[in-house]
Amino acid sequence: MVGESPTPSLTLAQALIRTPSVTPHDRGCQEILIQRLSALGFQIHRLRFGEVENFYARLGTAGKNFCFAGHTDVVATGNPEAWRADPFAAQVIDGHLFGRGACDMKGALSAMVVACEQFLADNPHFIDQNSLSFLITGDEEGEAVDGTVRVLAWLKEQKEQLDYCLVGEPTSVAQLGDCLKNGRRGSVNGILVFQGKQGHVAYPHLADNPIHRSAPVLARLAGIQFDQGDHHFPATSIQLTNIQAGDGSTNVVPGSLEARFNIRFSPKNSPESLEKTIRTVLDEPGNPACQLTMKVSGLPFLSEDGPLRSALDRSVRETLHRTPEASTGGGTSDARFISQLCPQTMEFGLVGSSMHKLDEGVPLADLEDLTQVYRRLLQILFDP
Ligand SMILES: [Zn+2]
Repeated sequence: MVGESPTPSLTLAQALIRTPSVTPHDRGCQEILIQRLSALGFQIHRLRFGEVENFYARLGTAGKNFCFAGHTDVVATGNPEAWRADPFAAQVIDGHLFGRGACDMKGALSAMVVACEQFLADNPHFIDQNSLSFLITGDEEGEAVDGTVRVLAWLKEQKEQLDYCLVGEPTSVAQLGDCLKNGRRGSVNGILVFQGKQGHVAYPHLADNPIHRSAPVLARLAGIQFDQGDHHFPATSIQLTNIQAGDGSTNVVPGSLEARFNIRFSPKNSPESLEKTIRTVLDEPGNPACQLTMKVSGLPFLSEDGPLRSALDRSVRETLHRTPEASTGGGTSDARFISQLCPQTMEFGLVGSSMHKLDEGVPLADLEDLTQVYRRLLQILFDP
């Protein structure tokens, strides 16, 4: 940054990165945000659950409530020696800010706060008619048990309403603004155990080979289309991920076979409907006995198209001259929980290619541009 003074977004992002808030230890990271928001007049509710720090902050009591949501926790660094710079030093090298959390998602948190500061300076009477809020958790990268889920339960108890929610996860793929997320698929994991009868390979009539018996069943399961998909979601199918039978010897028929699978599913299906379809196949006459267990790791959601989506599209177009593509791909995020309270929930943030990796980083220009996308979004939404 020779000859240039650091911008507010960069300075704040650096302060956040220099606080090593690896899940679930916050180490004062949220306090940095709380101080900035308190200075703007936000009312702060610190919500500690178990060992996880969270907070909800609101400015204004009237009208529509726009909520910025995100997490201050970061994943571990891996070997810090393998980074080109100390992962918690937040150094700027060649126009990029490096450090754990730079793109996932301390850069976005900084952009949100600075966008609010600038927006409120431009619109001093905003809170007479509308409200801004922040829902910040320290438990997104971990079990996600004492984080957003608990905060949402608290918001419900308080009868707090969120009208629009923008989650700052890194949704951009190749360039800032090329992609937003308006939904996510659900995910279930399953285990199938087929019982056979162990025996000597030379006497197959005295054994019952679970590999032979399960193979056609597994092929049947792999071919199921649970739904055909639509323009928001790809078709739902099963992916077998592990098969285990036998102990490596070639003269023993194994006694059982275990297969594992995952299903990423659209809102057209539910964990119950998936299980029912699978059991129908397993129960077909002639199939070997099989034990099925399934565990849900995330429910699907699809955000309603409405004012938030149009305003976000317009803000990205006006700021970056690019039209974001809406996607429901990728892993899960806290948006799956928030959307149950706030049907207009969108995710939009930085380019995610370096997240969770060594040398996580973000171009300084993207940090400034994201700040302006968030600021313009508020302007369009509340003053169309
Ligand atoms: Zn994240």
